[in-house]
Amino acid sequence: MGFLKWVLAIFTLCTYLATPTLSDSLLNKDELASISANFLNLAKRTDLFDWMVKIRRTIHENPELGFEEFETSKLIRNELDKMGIYYKYPVAVTGVVGFIGTGKSPFVALRADMDALPMQEEVEWEHKSKIPGKMHACGHDAHVAMLLGAARILQEQRDYLQGTVLLVFQPAEEGGGGAKKMLESGVLDNVDAIFGLHISAVHPIGTVTANSGPIMAGSGFFEAVIKGKGGHAAIPQHTIDPILAASNIIVSLQHLVSREADPLDSQVVTVAKFKGGGAFNVIPDSVTIGGTFRAFSKESFTQLKQRIVEVITRQAAVQRCNTTVDFDTENRPFYPVTVNNKALHEHFRDVAAQMLGNDKIIEKKPTMGTEDFSFFAEAFPGYFYLLGMVDETKGRFESGHNPFYRVNEDALPYGAALHASLATTYLLEHQVKATTQDRNVRDEL
Ligand SMILES: [Zn+2]
Ligand SMILES: [Zn+2]
Repeated sequence: MGFLKWVLAIFTLCTYLATPTLSDSLLNKDELASISANFLNLAKRTDLFDWMVKIRRTIHENPELGFEEFETSKLIRNELDKMGIYYKYPVAVTGVVGFIGTGKSPFVALRADMDALPMQEEVEWEHKSKIPGKMHACGHDAHVAMLLGAARILQEQRDYLQGTVLLVFQPAEEGGGGAKKMLESGVLDNVDAIFGLHISAVHPIGTVTANSGPIMAGSGFFEAVIKGKGGHAAIPQHTIDPILAASNIIVSLQHLVSREADPLDSQVVTVAKFKGGGAFNVIPDSVTIGGTFRAFSKESFTQLKQRIVEVITRQAAVQRCNTTVDFDTENRPFYPVTVNNKALHEHFRDVAAQMLGNDKIIEKKPTMGTEDFSFFAEAFPGYFYLLGMVDETKGRFESGHNPFYRVNEDALPYGAALHASLATTYLLEHQVKATTQDRNVRDEL
């Protein structure tokens, strides 16, 4: 604990001796290195590591889907109770928001998602999912364990926190828009910045992958029932064939990206669902098609949405069919583009470089995948990064949503330490700035 005392002493000195000119980073490299290295050592401490592993395995054995994370939420609250951390619950059905620190500004949030996927685990191991058809195949069990690990570190260091850390345990990341619901609750209204991470089965353990600016696409889902008139397949003139109509619609939808979008502006329209007919000699009454669309700007996203409606309804009309397009945003809200804040990117790079080394920071190329962390990053400055977990000596690691997905638990301390370091140093830097600004104002008065 002592190492933070001298760091704090330096800040106090900085505050009173500060020149009116504010630099962007008020922590020097030695101070950052001290916090980052010590937090990683704390997170690797056997008792803390074993405790995180136990939590992760317990959650893994009992996976719960979006907005049904009741037992997971209970486990989190029990651990927060044991640590003496105040929290708000329920937030967005099962969500929990913990608070550590002064209870005053600045407020920095750390986020973990809690939900599992509706799929069967195929990995045979001691802590296999006990719930048939449900599995933590995206690492959210590890995310919860890492944020609780950070909570332990931060709670131990709470006297030195120069502001408040919010621990955001959110439901329903996998399509349910849990982040959006948490924002609507108002609990996060005062947040100044938020950090989130996702464990990565692509990158080596001890590395992080990140970038500033847009890193993941905005996305939406659509579905349309193409209604025709069923009948005998050998007498098509007495029918209105919805299968042929749907086929034409799908081909026409391909033109939206290939002919209407700027080739330098990445977009996707995919029809992934086509349901209709059940016999070789019957033309069905209707066909259901559905899919997803993605874009990297609000303008392109809005344009795609409008054109999807136009193409589906008008092409259906050409084929004498009726249809309406349903985006069902109540159950599947549109996800905004995930945009990483530039200043937080610099902050993240400083912390990660001191903890892991400059060569362990990998540049993230944007992808058409989505994250509902984007809702947070749209509401206030946000930063989302990937945490590597691949260790080739431990066999092959399948990517997320695979029934053979495994988590390398050795990555847990890195996540916990990064969470805790990012929050602590953010508060220290911004507290010093705020105090210095206050002082300047007073000086002027
Ligand atoms: Zn996922
Ligand atoms: Zn995930």
